[in-house]
Amino acid sequence: LSFEELNLITPILNALKTEGYTTPTPIQLQAIPHLLAGSDLLGYAQTGTGKTAAFALPILQYLDHHKKPKSPRKIRALVLAPTRELAAQISDSFHSYGRNLKLSYSAIFGGVGHDRQIQSLSRGVDVLVATPGRLLDFVNKGYINLNSLEFFVLDEADQMFDMGFLPSLKKIVQLLPHKRQTLLFSATMPTDISNLAASILTNPVTVEV
Ligand code: AMP
Repeated sequence: LSFEELNLITPILNALKTEGYTTPTPIQLQAIPHLLAGSDLLGYAQTGTGKTAAFALPILQYLDHHKKPKSPRKIRALVLAPTRELAAQISDSFHSYGRNLKLSYSAIFGGVGHDRQIQSLSRGVDVLVATPGRLLDFVNKGYINLNSLEFFVLDEADQMFDMGFLPSLKKIVQLLPHKRQTLLFSATMPTDISNLAASILTNPVTVEV
């Protein structure tokens, strides 16, 4: 199957051409149809499999199809990642795949000053990529409101757990609307992660690569 046959829209197909992607990877083939159909997803996949596009493309397509008023622009998709490097990389991927869409993408993470991140949030963001600590910090300071969220992605959940983020993740989940599409990716599924998955996913499709 080609990206065209996955029913992706032309502006996204054109961005993939610009990226030089010719064929979908196995996780993209398996995940994209279910995600476009609105399912929750439990993905067993490592970095390097193309999992970022597997979740970013259907999210971008949905957000483009279901436009919301620009003002006030609310955060519609939240992607949590364990490290600032990964958060920045995922945000870059949204910028690339979504280059032909009128959506805005931003990343927030620790280890750098607040000011620039607060400025970019204040301009309005559709897709926010974040590390858990900085996200909670900004929620507590009132810079971020998650009550209009439509997509929640937990990337590298096992890594998050190893880094001690489980209590933060639980706090973040409490802030999210119940009606949302949720995706969890992990290379391994220890008990704590499968318990978390069971508590945040609704009838998920499982894909494994
Ligand atoms: P990821 O697992 O999302 O970190 O992606 C790993 C690498 O594969 C990144 O450099 C992507 O740009 C690249 N990539 C993802 N999907 C495809 C594809 N369908 N064709 C070629 N390269 C891809």
